[in-house]
Parts: sequence; C-alpha cells; structure tokens
Amino acid sequence: MIKIYDTKQRAKVDFETLEHGKVKMYVCGPTVYNYIHIGNARTFISFDVIRRYFEWRKFDVVFVQNVTDVDDKIIAKANEEGRSAHEVAAEYTKAFIDDMHAVNVKDPTIRPCATQEIPDMIKLVQELVDSGHAYEAGGDVYFDVRSFPQYGELSGRNVDEMESGHRELRTEGIADRKHDPLDFAVWKAAKPGEPAWDSPWGKGRPGWHLECSTMAQKYLGLPFDIHGGGADLVFPHHENECAQSEAATGRVFANHWMHSGMLRINSEKMSKSLGNFLLLRDVLKTVDPNVLRFLMLQTHYRSPLDFSSDRLSEAETALGRIVTFVRNLDWGIENAAGLQDVFDPAIVKDECRKEKIAFITAMDDDFNTSKALGTIFDFIGKKNAEIGGSALSVRDVASAQEIRDLIMELMGVFGLQMDKLVAGDEPQESDAFPPEIVTLAAEVAGYEGSDGAEAVDALLAARAEARAAKDWAQADAIRDRLGALGFAVEDTPQGARISRVED
Ligand code: AMP
Ligand code: ZN
Repeated sequence: MIKIYDTKQRAKVDFETLEHGKVKMYVCGPTVYNYIHIGNARTFISFDVIRRYFEWRKFDVVFVQNVTDVDDKIIAKANEEGRSAHEVAAEYTKAFIDDMHAVNVKDPTIRPCATQEIPDMIKLVQELVDSGHAYEAGGDVYFDVRSFPQYGELSGRNVDEMESGHRELRTEGIADRKHDPLDFAVWKAAKPGEPAWDSPWGKGRPGWHLECSTMAQKYLGLPFDIHGGGADLVFPHHENECAQSEAATGRVFANHWMHSGMLRINSEKMSKSLGNFLLLRDVLKTVDPNVLRFLMLQTHYRSPLDFSSDRLSEAETALGRIVTFVRNLDWGIENAAGLQDVFDPAIVKDECRKEKIAFITAMDDDFNTSKALGTIFDFIGKKNAEIGGSALSVRDVASAQEIRDLIMELMGVFGLQMDKLVAGDEPQESDAFPPEIVTLAAEVAGYEGSDGAEAVDALLAARAEARAAKDWAQADAIRDRLGALGFAVEDTPQGARISRVED
C-alpha cells in the first residue's frame, strides 16, 4: 500500500485512489514572466518522479498542470519591456516547456492556460456569488472567508488569530473594498492597459487562486486524488483554492494534498536580493541534467533541499558509480564467451526480486527516493564485490543481463536517462580486451579472427594443450605474455580463467 504524507491531515496516510487503478493529480504550474529557477525545477521534478512511480506501479495517471499566463508580474514585465502581456507569457511558456524537457520532466496529460479558460472561471465566480460565498465590490469580486467555516484547515491556521493580525493593519489605515480583511479576490476589476475580459461585474480578470480551482475541476472533476505544489503554496494559494471550490460545489476538492520542500542555496533561502538566484537553464550550461536530478533524488521530496557545488560533485560521483557498474556488466555481456560463470542464476534471480521489493518498500513510504537509491547502492555494492570490481568476471550472460535490466528499469522510474549516460564518453573504468591480445593469439595459438574474447579462448586452449604435452616453457610463456598485457591467468577447478590485474 502506498503511503503519502497529506498536508491537510498532517500525517502519513494510506493512499487509496478514488477510481480503481487511476490517479488524478493536479500540480500548480508556473507563472510565466521569467525563466524558471532551480527551486521551481525541484518541485516539478519531485512531482515528475511521483507520477513516474505511479505509472510504473501500473496506475493510469491523469496529470494536469496549468500555466498561469495572466498575472500582475507578467503585466509588470510587459510594461517594463514595452510588449504585450500575451507576448511575454507566450515566450516564457515556451521556455518553461523547453526547460522541463531538458530535465526529462514528462509533459502533463493536459496543460491548460488560464487565459483560454476564462468563461469557466466566470461561471465559478458566479456560482460563488449566487451561493452567497462571494460579493462584488467596485468591480472586484471577493470570497467571503467567514462564509466557509473550514477555512484554515489545510494550512492549520486559525481564522480568529489571522483576523486580529489584520485588524491592527486596518486600524493603521490600510482599508480596501473588502468586507473583511481576510477576504480575497476571485475576480479583479481591470486597470487601464491591462488584459481584461467582459464579465457580469464589468471588465476584469480572474484571481490566481480561482484559475487553479477552475482548471482542476474542469479537467479532473471533483474530487480528484492529489493536489500538489511547493510548500510555499500551502497558504494562501491552496487554502484559497480549496475554500472557494468546496464552497461553490459543496464537494471535496482534493482528496490529498502534497507539498515539496523548498530548495535553498548553500543553506540560504534563494532570493534575488541575496544574489543567489539560479535559473535552471544557467545551471544546465555546466551540469548534466541527470546529475541535477540525481542530487534532488538524494533528498526526500518534503525536506528542504540544499543545493551547492559540493553536493553536485557528490551526486556526479554517486551517479558515476551506477553508470560504471552498468558499463562493466555490458562489457561482461559482450565478452563473456568461454569465460567461467561467477553469477549463480538462481541466486541472481532471487536477489533481483529482493532488490525490487526493497525499492518498492522505500518508494511506497511517501516516495522515499533517497532510501530507494540506497537499496540500489547496496545491491550494486554486493554484486561488485562478487565480480571483484572487474568486468572481466561477469560470466553468466543471462544473469548479468537480468541485473542490468533491473538497474535500468529502476533508474528509469526516477526519470534518469541511463541509456544516454551509459553510452556517454566519460572515462570508462574497464575497456574491452586490448588489440594486442588478438595479435598474441595469432602468434602463439594460430588464431585468425579479430575478437578479443575468442582470442582469449584460443590462448587459454593453447596453454592447456602445452600443459597437457608437458611443454611447461610454452605454457609459462603464454601466461607471462598475458601478464605483460595486464591479465593474470588463474587455474580453477572449472578450468583456467583470466582476470584484469589491478594497477
Ligand atoms: P511560481 O511560478 O512562483 O508559482 O512557482 C512554481 C512552483 O515552484 C510552485 O509549485 C512553487 O511552490 C515552486 N517553488 C517556488 N520556489 C521554490 C523553491 N525555492 N523550492 C522549491 N519549490 C519552489
Ligand atoms: Zn494553483
């Protein structure tokens, strides 16, 4: 049973889907007025891994993520640059999608843009007004927080305490059109020069929270299984989404709420004023996207994540170990002919099964990616010890292939592009047999082909023949010349084998 930490229930709870075998999730997308930063990327990658895990566990996932393409910040940027808000939003929507592809985040099933959904938003505002949960004031429409007694339940806030804070502000003279300082806008009257749509309350545009409420309901129906986002969205964004949707429909909005922790730079909050603000695309100029993803996987999605260059190099080294292991297996698979078995197929089968269970157990526990990675490292460590850290010892091709398939499958669940990494041109720990082996086999064993593994077979056969004929000089010569090429000959009960001599 998959357990997830539910922000609203403040507990890890059993995850039961509303519809059998189907997961309907909504994850708030970006406000498109700039390139996304690596904090945004952390949240999007976290939910990408969660989604991939559900899919791997054979759930049919419907993943909806909006694009907020009308907003104060977009309008401000457009005014600064003398462009239309639409132009600014279109540019950064495209950039966002490119950035997501660069870190291998899957496209959502549906990616609605707020400006394309205005009629449904107006409908929801109207429902709130009709049911007495919202009121019009000077062309704005506000949600009446006091009309919804459950307000504050998601974020664990007490409305009366929030109210007293606001009252102090109000007595200082900060007044607005609201009946109550806690009320928030679901529709905003247009200011001159802003994008605006006709509505029963005059020209205006939807409030941000209302956009998500509308799109989630339209594309998933209520209730849906999971609503997610970064922890900074719990209040007010998600509290407000939840309140207005539940007030308008009388139905539960999201069955579970999930929030990812904030990314920090060298243990400090990332902010423009601290000068430690990193755009994802700038980081990717020097960092492999898989290394960045791996770094993120090393921390549980709910914990704060510390980003630093030290952690990047640690992630690179750790990921490199897995890549090297797969390359060693590949080498063994390609060059196994005539070499002696090391893996016992029955044991390998059993261990692969156990590793899969350990991985699932970790991931079922609120998507504990760091623990799941730990199981992979334990598994690899054990197998490496068995093959003596050397590709040359991987003999049972089917077992080696089984191990390889499992590692590739599990890393794929994390969205790591292992095929690319394994094929990459970083230094490999072990190379194929050197060409001198073929030359040597031609000289002393009459071998006529060009395959390293066959050449080794021919050399070992020639040595065995020499020993059988008690031609010790010839047998030793073959052993010594292999030694000069960096290979030791070992006699075992199953016959002779060679292994690479460690430097
Ligand atoms: P925004 O465009 O600001 O609405 O942010 C898009 C997503 O990124 C939201 O889910 C935010 O919660 C998330 N986010 C923003 N800053 C950070 C951060 N420093 N760490 C993790 N997630 C963040
Ligand atoms: Zn939202």
